[in-house]
Parts: sequence; structure tokens; C-alpha cells
Amino acid sequence: MNESGYFQQGSEAALRQRVLETALAMSRSGLSPVRSGNVSVRAGPAMLITPSGMVYEQMTPGDIVRVEYDGTVARGQRKPSSEWHFHLAAYAARPDRHAVVHTHSMYATVLACAHKPIPGFHYMVAVAGGRDIPCIPYATFGTPELARLVAAGLKERDACLMANHGQIAVGETLQSALELAQEVEVLAEQYHKLLMLGAPHLLDDAEMDAMVERFKTYGQKAQGDP
Ligand code: 13P
Ligand code: ZN
Repeated sequence: MNESGYFQQGSEAALRQRVLETALAMSRSGLSPVRSGNVSVRAGPAMLITPSGMVYEQMTPGDIVRVEYDGTVARGQRKPSSEWHFHLAAYAARPDRHAVVHTHSMYATVLACAHKPIPGFHYMVAVAGGRDIPCIPYATFGTPELARLVAAGLKERDACLMANHGQIAVGETLQSALELAQEVEVLAEQYHKLLMLGAPHLLDDAEMDAMVERFKTYGQKAQGDP
């Protein structure tokens, strides 16, 4: 069952636990150095998001912040991630996605600081939903301007690099958003190494378009959600 299914059963407590577990998995896998990065999930008329600037290992489910879709935060909660604007913008841009993972993972960030998108050097690039993984322009962290740029990027792809910052990935579930962020990091490392060898051999647009279609039914997807 996906996260929106859990919410329909009224289990905000279960969703808080899953946001925390996803943030811990992100941190423990080395994807998000120190306090960087943030995680959220759609929760009916609100989202649940990691608090700003807290050490992941010290968080409890009660530290996860509920932010309504109009941006209001009920009193008595932690301060939400400084990136709550772009998390809300991601949900508005992608009604078909229910979880957001943002990280400063090493190689994705290195490429993003060079303003280098990841082209179709490997068929796996299509897991982000297109021929390449674009790099959205720079804007100051935590600003509505960055949220606008993130939303524009996510309308076209499930993951983007963020110039001079990091990467963002969305998914139908927290698990799939985290897995996509992990995949983007692997591809970023491979592409970085490939650039050292000179001009990479890229797959053509027709092949990448075919790969995007293949991923729609790859694995167990065609079998439906058990
Ligand atoms: P927060 O701790 O406020 O979520 O900020 C981390 C971050 O990655 C900002 O872009
Ligand atoms: Zn960040």
C-alpha cells in the first residue's frame, strides 16, 4: 500500500514513522552529509516533512512537522525544513507523486555545481522519466524562487539536479523516491568517471524514448500493487 493509502486509513502516526525511517536510510546510506537534505510525504490536505537542521539520528516521529498545503504550521511543532516551499511545489506540480527526497549526495552535487545535466550515457538515465536528468537553475535555498524552479523541473522528470546545491527525487512512495535518489547518485558517479575518459558515447533520443516506455512496465509494475 502506498503512503496516501495509509493516510486514508487515518494513520498519520504510521506516516511520521515512515518519513523518519526514510530520512534515516538516506542519512545512513551516505546520501545526505550531516544535516543536509530533507524528506516529506503527502498526507491528505497536508504534508509531513523533516524538521529544519536536526541530526537525523536524534529525530523521533514527533519531530516530523505537519505543514498544510497553504503553508501554515500549527503551533507547538518543530520548525519545518527550510525547503518546505519546494516540497509543497513538488506536490502541486505532480499530483501522481506522494513523496519527495532531497539530498546533497556527492556526485549529483559535484555535477550540479558544474551545471552539468546527466545525458543519456546509460539506459538507466530513463528511470527519471526522460532522455536526461536535467539540472535546474540556481536559486537561494528555502526561497519561493527555488520552489518555482523545482516545480518546473519536476513537471518534466521524477528527478533533477539542482545547480550549486544537490538533487531532488519524487516517487509514488517514500521508498521509491529514496530509491530514485540513490539511482541518480549512482548515475552521477558513473557519468563523472566517464567524463574523465573524454567524450562519452551517448544513446540516441529514439533509444532513450524507448527506455522511458520500457520503465513504465519494468519489474513487477505490470502486476499491480499487491
Ligand atoms: P533543512 O535542514 O532546513 O531541511 O535544510 C537542509 C537543506 O538541504 C536545505 O536545502
Ligand atoms: Zn539542500
